[in-house]
Amino acid sequence: MVDKDILQVNYVSFKYNEESNDVLKDVSFSVRNGEWLAIVGHNGSGKSTLAKILTGILFPSKGKVSFREFDLNEDTIWDIRKKVGMVFQNPDNQFVGSTVNDDIAFGLENNGIHRDEMLKRIEFAVKQVKMEDYLESEPHQLSGGQKQRVAIAGVIALHPQLIILDEATSMLDPKGREEVIETIWKLKKDLNLTVLSITHDLEEAARADRMIVMKEGVIFAEGTPREIFKLDEELVSIGLDIPFPVKLSKELAKKGISLSKNHVTEEELIEELW
Ligand code: ADP
Repeated sequence: MVDKDILQVNYVSFKYNEESNDVLKDVSFSVRNGEWLAIVGHNGSGKSTLAKILTGILFPSKGKVSFREFDLNEDTIWDIRKKVGMVFQNPDNQFVGSTVNDDIAFGLENNGIHRDEMLKRIEFAVKQVKMEDYLESEPHQLSGGQKQRVAIAGVIALHPQLIILDEATSMLDPKGREEVIETIWKLKKDLNLTVLSITHDLEEAARADRMIVMKEGVIFAEGTPREIFKLDEELVSIGLDIPFPVKLSKELAKKGISLSKNHVTEEELIEELW
């Protein structure tokens, strides 16, 4: 393991039962300190199975997962879970408190954080996700994007070494999705947070530093978003939807409008065309 790796997945295979085929086959990758790695793939490519393995809900049939110097197994999983923050798909399933404040406080109390420290952490976390005006709101009355931002605040208040987002934007409307993606990007930049997001949304993945594309349980491609989006037709052939800025950038190039590079996010494209 390289010193800077937070998480390492080594030749992991998985099958749901003895008679069935492997749904993950020799999957290897690592998440480096301070990076945002996005794992993408069409339905059935093995993303959820991988997410369950990374969080210790399932254990590999072969191979191993290590978090820093610790191998993930039944003995280490509880300690490792304290260091890894998780945000899931359905924002409504993640709340225990009746207000935003109580909800974040609950996680901190469970981790034995002292009251003064708790107040500081809540204040800091809600500011980071721009939800400081909603501390007394009921989580269930918030919009989808706001709910996920509160879930993220609850996670960062616990000072995780890694945050895993499992399809965290897939139930949101476009506005909510953009809010959450922007929040993740800002946290990575401002707090040097290490992020692993598992998603079928290539617009979300385009904001990551690095992408891994899964196909039928194997790693089909790995690289920066710019490198990955060069494979556009191959991505379409495995059921993935190319982000609009990538399509537009290519169409403009075909018409002789040459841009400084192939843009992968709306921000980049707007910056150049404006
Ligand atoms: P994704 O999240 O990319 O849609 P999954 O990890 O859910 O992919 O599924 C990968 C493969 O594993 C699929 O072929 C799926 O049918 C199979 N699978 C998922 N869950 C189970 C299960 N509980 N039992 C048996 N097979 C499963």
